[in-house]
Amino acid sequence: MQVIQEFVINDTSVVCPACNTVFATPNLAKMPNITRDSLIEADLHRVLPDPNIRAALVAMCPACIYTWWMSAFAPHYILPQLVPESPEIELPKKFAHAVLSGRQNGSHSLDRALLSLNGCWCAREAHLASGTLGSEEYVTTNHRWLTLAVQELDAALRDPEWDGNRSRYHYMMGEMLRQLGQFDAAVKEFNVVDRRSMLPRQLVEHQKTLAVAMNAEPTALPPFIIEEIFLPKAPPVISNIPATISA
Ligand SMILES: [Zn+2]
Repeated sequence: MQVIQEFVINDTSVVCPACNTVFATPNLAKMPNITRDSLIEADLHRVLPDPNIRAALVAMCPACIYTWWMSAFAPHYILPQLVPESPEIELPKKFAHAVLSGRQNGSHSLDRALLSLNGCWCAREAHLASGTLGSEEYVTTNHRWLTLAVQELDAALRDPEWDGNRSRYHYMMGEMLRQLGQFDAAVKEFNVVDRRSMLPRQLVEHQKTLAVAMNAEPTALPPFIIEEIFLPKAPPVISNIPATISA
């Protein structure tokens, strides 16, 4: 078991849905809730304190290399010490394998876009942990992941059959393009974000202003925006007592 702040990772036995091999893989057993003080960036991802946490969201079969979201692997009762372990590879590469598995299995491009984004964030967390965020290697890696994510998300948004929250994903696309330094394209995306995105107008305008100012830096969300997006208050309880009686 590995405890990182309030995140808990333990080894779990799972069954590969592609080849039925039982293997052991890290599993995120506990994750603290988001609070207004969590570190969340404007592309709506939570910055995790260790790349191992994000990497535990996907599992990779040691027999056939099928890689996908951990939730797609059924748990198995056998002790994890008694079965082969998932292959040891660089953590962000697990997401690259997942994108590949997704292509081989005809998954939707939105899934592949989200896996690419997680690969991007995992690489960032790995460089953050090793203090190499400013390195040329990081810049190249980050660019590659974002480009892949943009391609996949673009394909998802072009799919007329897909009925996800397009407006919110146009916002995500704007953020990805902004971080890639494609500022005009980013502004175009921010311009089509409407209230259906359920995002504060102030946030969309802020990110658009950054794009206009040709600022490609990732930005952390202020606590009040985190509250608005991730911790919405419950709607007020409407009293069922008629006004004439309660008055
Ligand atoms: Zn397998």
